[in-house]
Amino acid sequence: MTSPTVLILLGPPGAGKGTQARMLEEDFGLVQLSTGDLLRAAVASGSAAGLQAKAVMEAGGLVSDEIVLAILKDRLRQPDVARGIILDGFPRTDGQAAALDTLLADAGQRVTAAISLDVDDEAMVGRVAGRFTCAGCGEGYHDEFKQPAVAGTCDKCGGTAFKRRADDNAETVRERLKAYHAQTAPLISYYDAKGVLQRIDAMGEIAAIRAALGDIVSGVSAG
Ligand SMILES: [Zn+2]
Repeated sequence: MTSPTVLILLGPPGAGKGTQARMLEEDFGLVQLSTGDLLRAAVASGSAAGLQAKAVMEAGGLVSDEIVLAILKDRLRQPDVARGIILDGFPRTDGQAAALDTLLADAGQRVTAAISLDVDDEAMVGRVAGRFTCAGCGEGYHDEFKQPAVAGTCDKCGGTAFKRRADDNAETVRERLKAYHAQTAPLISYYDAKGVLQRIDAMGEIAAIRAALGDIVSGVSAG
């Protein structure tokens, strides 16, 4: 029996991580496991680790790595993840990555690939910062890439009121990217040193990114 695929998907907000994770689920039968979903499901299941997590969360605390790992260990035994998983939001530190490796090794598994969705920071700032939407119907526009055909009038509903999200400005986007790089750098180094780091240019078309991800998953699964 082949070992399940274990993917770690890394990418800043706006890199399309969620979209690509859904496509990997479709294309390869993988299951995306986010830390939040894992915790909620464990609490609902009433498992030992779930009850521990519940107590910590009710006390307003942060669930420890140990509990998250115990929950993940339980989850990996369930039949729906037999083909493999995409981890989202865990690990966040190189310490957690090392603990994850130990957990997987105990089950005869390992991280198949840690895939970094790389973005050009300044291009990303331009993409996000110029966004606005129609206040009436929610149609999305962009200062640079998609202006309404008639200036100031929504193509879809003819509305003339538009809104911009307060956090869609250049400075906020730059700060988010900076924080992402600072947080992720140790993980990138960790997986690079393990020889499982893969980088994908996430600035291209969604279909091209999907294909590149597919090549990685097929390649490493076959190998
Ligand atoms: Zn509209």
